[in-house]
Amino acid sequence: MFGERLFRARAASGLSMKELALLAGVSANMIKKYEHNESMPGSAVLLKMSRALGVRNEYFFRPTTVELKEVEYRKRSNLSKKALTRIHADIINQVERWMELAALWPCFPVPAFSAPLFSTQRLTHYDDVEKVAECLRQQWCLGSQPIASLIDLLERQGILVIVTQADHAEKFDGCQAKVNGMPVIVISGKWPGDRQRFTLAHELGHLVLHHRLADNLDEEKACHRFAGAFLLPASTMRQRLGARRHALEVRELYLLKQEAGLSMMACIYRAADLGIISDQTRQKLFMLFSASHWRTLEPGEAYPAESTTLFSQLVFRGLGEGILSESKAAELLGISLSQFHRTRKLESPDVDSYQ
Ligand SMILES: [Zn+2]
Repeated sequence: MFGERLFRARAASGLSMKELALLAGVSANMIKKYEHNESMPGSAVLLKMSRALGVRNEYFFRPTTVELKEVEYRKRSNLSKKALTRIHADIINQVERWMELAALWPCFPVPAFSAPLFSTQRLTHYDDVEKVAECLRQQWCLGSQPIASLIDLLERQGILVIVTQADHAEKFDGCQAKVNGMPVIVISGKWPGDRQRFTLAHELGHLVLHHRLADNLDEEKACHRFAGAFLLPASTMRQRLGARRHALEVRELYLLKQEAGLSMMACIYRAADLGIISDQTRQKLFMLFSASHWRTLEPGEAYPAESTTLFSQLVFRGLGEGILSESKAAELLGISLSQFHRTRKLESPDVDSYQ
């Protein structure tokens, strides 16, 4: 048990056995023995390893219960095996933190996710996908307003969202998995907000549309359509741009992006899907975006990255209700007890939002 946890913490930190050995003052061979459960470190070495790996001592002694199942990557990614191991370890560590928090509650105040029911059970056209997105917005009481934090919204509906910072090569494309039957969506903390939001909405599309599409519909395409429709409803699009247009100004797309958190490119697709612009106009806009190198980096200010407060909120709620102790709260938030005391009195930098 100890060995597996040490390996995972080391993988998440990106340190090699040799590097950790140097920091802990032991040989690389000894680290290998620890990881194979052939030897146990003394308390001094344990302390040094905890510091080097950025975890608390308690981390090594939690029982491992979390296993990611049905992991599906969004695209065939060209990540190295080492980078993938690192991201995977980070995901497990974060999921574990959530599971530990949930297990402390007699009745966890977040409901389990259940795929919503719609009147049209079998979707035969991409326009049906549009209706499903609208219907879900209604069921979740979102009206046609922009969604401020998509992570918060999904987490409150029982979908666990993990934002990994372990994507150092910036090649990770997001993935979806299941933990104890709960859906988990993973995005990168290195992406701009509009890309994070599109990936989240796309993965939500998979959860909602899976097994409900007729054979003539491509699930990837349907999920793209769902993502656009969920983030920026057709009614808002038509209200802002009009029902039929001959051309679109780049600034209009920029304003839409800032309002809804949907990229300008996705707004162009959306305008064409809704028949607001012709395919020819769409092509012209694409050409402009390519020629200006805006496909890789859109002009203007980037849309801010997503953040979430649910985890921290539940930690403090649990603390207030006596469900967890101060030291457990500090451990779950990954900070020292003294830092926690300052945070509790609002004297320390913000730990509420994880980005
Ligand atoms: Zn997909």
